[in-house]
Amino acid sequence: MHVSKRVQSIEPSPIRKIIDLSESRSDIIGLHAGEPDFTTPSHIVEAGVRSLRDGYTHYTHGAGILQLREAIARKLHGENGIEANPKTEITVTAGGFAAIFAITQATLDPVDEVLILQPSWPSYSGFVRLAGGVPVPVSLQGPDFEPSRKMLEHHTTEKTKMIVINSPNNPTGSVYLRDCLSSLAEFAQDHDMLVVSDEVYEKIVFDGNEHFSLASRPEFRDSVVTVNSFSKTYAMTGWRVGYVIANESITTSIRKIHGYMVSCAPSDAQRAALGALLGPQDCVNEMVGEYAARRDWIVKGLDEVEGFRCVAPKGTFYAFPDVSRLNIPSAEIANKLLEEAKVASIPGSAFGAAGEGYLRFSFATSQQNIEEGISRVKAWRSKCK
Ligand code: PLP
Repeated sequence: MHVSKRVQSIEPSPIRKIIDLSESRSDIIGLHAGEPDFTTPSHIVEAGVRSLRDGYTHYTHGAGILQLREAIARKLHGENGIEANPKTEITVTAGGFAAIFAITQATLDPVDEVLILQPSWPSYSGFVRLAGGVPVPVSLQGPDFEPSRKMLEHHTTEKTKMIVINSPNNPTGSVYLRDCLSSLAEFAQDHDMLVVSDEVYEKIVFDGNEHFSLASRPEFRDSVVTVNSFSKTYAMTGWRVGYVIANESITTSIRKIHGYMVSCAPSDAQRAALGALLGPQDCVNEMVGEYAARRDWIVKGLDEVEGFRCVAPKGTFYAFPDVSRLNIPSAEIANKLLEEAKVASIPGSAFGAAGEGYLRFSFATSQQNIEEGISRVKAWRSKCK
């Protein structure tokens, strides 16, 4: 069979398998989803539909329509403190996925090592492998999953080229403080490494926790590449629009790869994204308010399950309870929950070895689903005894 060694080196996302399985069964309560359950706010949908009616049905500039890049630049300046030139430093991509794929293809050479703070979104390792690189997990410890410079030092070799940081974090819900993030970026700079800062959950933060963008510090302008997306903030996962901010030379390389992949992000979706940035932002606050209420229900419920310990996530829409006291591999627990309790969750091991002993439950679903899911998990636990 003519399948490349690169492709043979990766597995489909373990999360995808669970999604496919639970979607094929109507008796399952899905607490596994990695996307907002809300539909895209209507003024954004209208902007997309209008663009099609107005004839925006063609390829766009490979880096995205300039108006959108300009709106992104204003957003970055106003909200993130990042100064980026829309002509040379911002690229609109087909979602965060295409952004990270393009970054890794554009900057990694075979056998370059990439530090990945784990537990982490499983796709990072796949992107690194597809670029010929070697993912090097840096294990973080719960309940805070706080990274430190020392941990990076321990895993750094002369081949280390990149570090991937994701805050707010999928799956742990951690939101790293400015000082913590800065010390990691300083370490990266000292060792001539690139930092990929994945900020796709930036808006979903609770209790006054603040998201900090590393690229806002001028000294990191050349060493930090920032990834963001419209998917989680505006409930736009299906539209496929994300963006990357990088210095001009990296941006030129990212654009080459993105051009070869998809030519450009979908034209109507880019106009919808423009509508999202130019329109009212109350929809974002409303969705985040709803996630905050759901977070409280799910954390309380999970923490009451015998053998589970659940701390409140500072951001994202994931709860990540510690289930290590059950002394059963997380994949087995998730499987039993699916088959016996009819509740879909994601085993912590899907996020790397450091995720073992945890389960990820998404609260991007209705209160009713959360309540029913939790009561099923509780009933299942009492039967196990
Ligand atoms: N980064 C993280 C941490 C994610 O969880 C996801 C999606 O689940 C993405 C990036 C990519 O999202 P999208 O391609 O929809 O922007």
